[in-house]
Amino acid sequence: MPEAMSDDFMRLALEQAQHAWDLGEVPVGAVVVKDGVVIARGYNQPIGKHDPTAHAEIVALRAAAEALGNYRLPGCELYVTLEPCVMCSGAMMHARLAKVVYGATDPKTGACGSVVDLFGQERLNHHTEVSGGVMADACGAMLKRFFAARRAAAAAARRPAVE
Ligand SMILES: [Zn+2]
Repeated sequence: MPEAMSDDFMRLALEQAQHAWDLGEVPVGAVVVKDGVVIARGYNQPIGKHDPTAHAEIVALRAAAEALGNYRLPGCELYVTLEPCVMCSGAMMHARLAKVVYGATDPKTGACGSVVDLFGQERLNHHTEVSGGVMADACGAMLKRFFAARRAAAAAARRPAVE
């Protein structure tokens, strides 16, 4: 897929990430693409949904499977703003997703090489190609801004009220 096109899909994933931020969730967003068309979107919402599995990728995979009426997603590509975790990577393998494209790396929970490399495990993964670092600066910057704003708000809350 041409680079400009994958940037376009990553921009749509970033729009989804903004929805998460607007709800106070860590801003991660995803879209699922089939034949060059976005068929599903998702954003991170575990807190609001009381659901530890409600990562952007899982939300988008569920919506894509629903849209296609198929629990497997061959020929589909998932674009996500942050390197997927172990849970999401596992779900993508079960879906037989053709390709995952991510933006920023996640040194704490990344399962595409940062902490572990699940997709590199030949015995686990026969289907899913991985590509990282697409619009990584923009994707990483959004997360940095979010955490900086959250720290500032926490610091302001701790500051004693002045007369
Ligand atoms: Zn995840």
